[in-house]
Amino acid sequence: MVGRGLDPAVAVKGVIMFICPVCKSKLNIEGKTYLCENNHSFDIAKQGYVNLLPVNKKHSDNPGDSKDMVLSRRAFLESGNYDCFAEKLVEIINSIFENSQKISIADCGCGEGYYDGFLRKLKTDYELFGFDISKEAVRFASAKYKNCNFAVGSCFNMPVQSESFDLAINIFAPMVESEVARVLKNGGYLIYAVPGKNHLMGLKELLYENVYENEEKHTEYAGFKFVERYTVRNEIAVDGEMGVNLFKMTPYYFKTELGAEEKIRENHGFTTEIHFDFLVYRKI
Ligand SMILES: [Zn+2]
Repeated sequence: MVGRGLDPAVAVKGVIMFICPVCKSKLNIEGKTYLCENNHSFDIAKQGYVNLLPVNKKHSDNPGDSKDMVLSRRAFLESGNYDCFAEKLVEIINSIFENSQKISIADCGCGEGYYDGFLRKLKTDYELFGFDISKEAVRFASAKYKNCNFAVGSCFNMPVQSESFDLAINIFAPMVESEVARVLKNGGYLIYAVPGKNHLMGLKELLYENVYENEEKHTEYAGFKFVERYTVRNEIAVDGEMGVNLFKMTPYYFKTELGAEEKIRENHGFTTEIHFDFLVYRKI
């Protein structure tokens, strides 16, 4: 059945691992809402996601990426320029969970769901719970990726149950180690993707007079043992419009003077190195 007329509850797959943002108890589905034992209820949107971001935790009416930014992000990611990163993520997960029948995954800061789409290539069966502070991003994720469960929620107060996940994924999202440790089972894994040294150097060179390499990140986190670093580097060439889409996904979008978009367009795009480091940790 296609989108229209879909019973929202049908879009929810498998076990429910979301929790009530008010009292932290488990949520169950009652008709078209999630309901906790204290009768706090949260409507399931027609795309299938649920908003579990408490109003008093919002710093603005619409925190996170705007619709315009989400559209740019989706256009860029669907161009295939970051497929090398998504493929590597799948490869790492397959190597960790080689013989596991079923794994549960929390995608912390899932954005518009691009990486979740790639998880279909996993050899193991999985339950996926993705959340992001941007309602627009979650709406897009939920409309497109039907085999996952999505919620609007924060990395600082993850809307999922404690000690429930085999794997947490964090790709360029805020790292809140206490929350990641809370939601992982003992022995569970964290895959944390961070920008490598020369990630987007070509974009930076176009925008700024003086450019610096990114600091190489290798942090120890309390409650975790570092397992391995996987590095993925590539070079991409983007035209003006795709260059602007990429620019809008980056922190430079907020830090750069007006006129940067025009500069990228007038330059007819740029060539740049792209470089992710995937840091793998295990909860101890
Ligand atoms: Zn509640």
